[in-house]
Amino acid sequence: MFYLLIILLQMKLIKHITDLNKAVNGQKKLGFVPTMGSLHKGHESLIKISKKKCEKTMVSIFVNPTQFNNKNDYKNYPRSLNKDLKVLKKLKVDYVYIPTVTQIYRGVDKSKISLNKLEKILCAKFRKSHFEGVLNILNRFVKLISPKIIFMGEKDYQQFFLVKKYIEKKYRTKVYLSKTIRNSNMVALSSRNSLLNQANLESVGLITRKLFDLKYSINKNKNKSNILIKEIKKELTQKFDVKIEYLECRNTDNLSTNLYKRPFKLFIAYYFKNVRLIDNY
Ligand code: AMP
Repeated sequence: MFYLLIILLQMKLIKHITDLNKAVNGQKKLGFVPTMGSLHKGHESLIKISKKKCEKTMVSIFVNPTQFNNKNDYKNYPRSLNKDLKVLKKLKVDYVYIPTVTQIYRGVDKSKISLNKLEKILCAKFRKSHFEGVLNILNRFVKLISPKIIFMGEKDYQQFFLVKKYIEKKYRTKVYLSKTIRNSNMVALSSRNSLLNQANLESVGLITRKLFDLKYSINKNKNKSNILIKEIKKELTQKFDVKIEYLECRNTDNLSTNLYKRPFKLFIAYYFKNVRLIDNY
């Protein structure tokens, strides 16, 4: 009981900018893990790495409206603040920042970031202004918090790629990539998984295995990648009733379609039971 009280006292819940300024003032090695809450083991892995690499760790919980291109998606995004706070207390996070929408978007921000034409691929093509929303919230967070390192997950590789490119160009903050955490069926953990039932998640597991196999086959025979992708698209659509937005290979250095002499990933975004899922292999 006494131990729990100490932990409770240790974690600072920050809601106002003045408290945030006080907390970050003079911090030389602050790790920052931005999240939209509904925390799972994927988020936890980022927090654990931050705690290892940094003196203090701050986690933000903010469902950012400007990165949703669909109002219902924003409204239905899973939220579980009380549960999240318990998880964060257990992990002994130093600071939890929970701003309100009006607080964050008060005033005009002249340093808006926009994507160029070549970057409008994968999720940027299908979710209009999504990454502009992500980049602009992170730009605001970095200005307010000045973290030494931001920790991000490989599951959202395109997000990591763009944040690293734009944030590291503007600030001294570094962006660190942490591997995707999966369940025993290989399904990438995601807050959106809570919108699916157990049977659905098992199907997602079967889909995931097929995509890992596809990556393996493409790796062995890059010339055939288009045919192999076409076949799998057909199979997944017929067997699992998924709606695939994109399924394509891109190299990890610059996300171009040049797969030769460079490591590459297979990227997918699809709807299953009206829930949008993304992953890469
Ligand atoms: P979100 O709350 O979905 O905005 O995610 C916050 C951070 O957690 C992002 O950097 C994500 O890439 C990362 N993340 C989400 N799911 C996973 C996962 N399964 N494994 C590792 N990192 C993840």
